[in-house]
Amino acid sequence: MTPPRGGDCERFEVAFAGLVGARYALAFPYGRSALLLLLEALGLRDCEVITPAITCVVVPHAVVCSGNRPVFVDVEEGGFNMDLALVPPRVTGRTGAIIATSMYGYPCDLDMLEAVRARFPRDIPVIQDCALTLDARWKGRPVHKAGVAACYSLNISKVVSSIFGGVVATDSEALHARLQVLRDERLRPASWGKGLKRLLYLLAILPVFSPPIYALVNKLERSGLLNRFTYPIEEDQVIGMPRDYLEGMAGIEARVGIANLRRFDEVVRRRREAAEVYFQHLNLDGFVLPPRLENSTYSHFVVRVSRRDEWLERCLRRGLQLGQVVPYSVPELPSYGAHRPDEFPRAAQVARTVINLPIWGGRRLAERVVDIVREVHREIEGQV
Ligand SMILES: *Cc1c(COP(=O)(O)O)cnc(C)c1O
Repeated sequence: MTPPRGGDCERFEVAFAGLVGARYALAFPYGRSALLLLLEALGLRDCEVITPAITCVVVPHAVVCSGNRPVFVDVEEGGFNMDLALVPPRVTGRTGAIIATSMYGYPCDLDMLEAVRARFPRDIPVIQDCALTLDARWKGRPVHKAGVAACYSLNISKVVSSIFGGVVATDSEALHARLQVLRDERLRPASWGKGLKRLLYLLAILPVFSPPIYALVNKLERSGLLNRFTYPIEEDQVIGMPRDYLEGMAGIEARVGIANLRRFDEVVRRRREAAEVYFQHLNLDGFVLPPRLENSTYSHFVVRVSRRDEWLERCLRRGLQLGQVVPYSVPELPSYGAHRPDEFPRAAQVARTVINLPIWGGRRLAERVVDIVREVHREIEGQV
């Protein structure tokens, strides 16, 4: 059945396509639904899909649920994206697609991507997973254009949110047409109840994103509420999709998305300001700053430390809640084969050492964070 079109969702799609400069954008209930149907629209079935070892676990879930198999690739040295140099040996006659990812907003290396693609005997579609960045650029070139399509997530933890939601953007008329037909066939319209649930969710979660958040986030986290909302615990244990993954984006989500798309430039500007403060003031021993890439949109400011639990605890005691985004290497998860850490060594190291500093609050908040981090660093370094 064809879900009713038009209205808020279409306006959202037009706004989204405008922002990323794509010819077409199609909205989905989740980023993972967008990716799943994109793989289907590409005609992939029983194929191998090259997937980063460090990525959101719902990405390989979408690969599996589309009837394909993820083939994992380790992380690049010193960064967070898939090491593209390791892709060619993983390519086989069954490879159906490559999911390049700009993790944490750090753009995928397009020069390397091109060099690697030139070595394949045939053209293999590249999907740009831009869930963590709407406008990453590699030396000025938009990353999201370097493939057949880009997929995005707009869940509440992303730089631009539509509460939940996902998008596929493409310049290909044929792919857009196929995906649209598929979406109309497979998605049911958002129910009235879904709109209401999303609204309640938004109201519950909003305080977490207002400045004096720290104590509150902590309280929410201890109560398990935030975790239940943002990282359903089974997600990294069971391969599957949420029950409503084929229920269209709700009108309220589209409206929230449009409002947030308008704020995009301002949001990224504040993130870059905060990142500058961190780069200037946090050059500390044993506190490994992220690569300083031009044009990163910084969905997260990711640092590596060896004694992570100690860092988390000591910062929390001072009212600073640090995050850990993707604290797992996907192939190490039991549902993906429980590979040994030495099989994907850099991913293993990233998964065990990453913390991320608050990045959304601009210069002022970043300066407060710097004071706390320097204090904690002195304490930790001071111990034997
Ligand atoms: C968040 C995210 C997704 C998809 O998220 P949904 O929750 O399904 O919207 C995909 N890839 C990456 C890298 C992500 O961070």
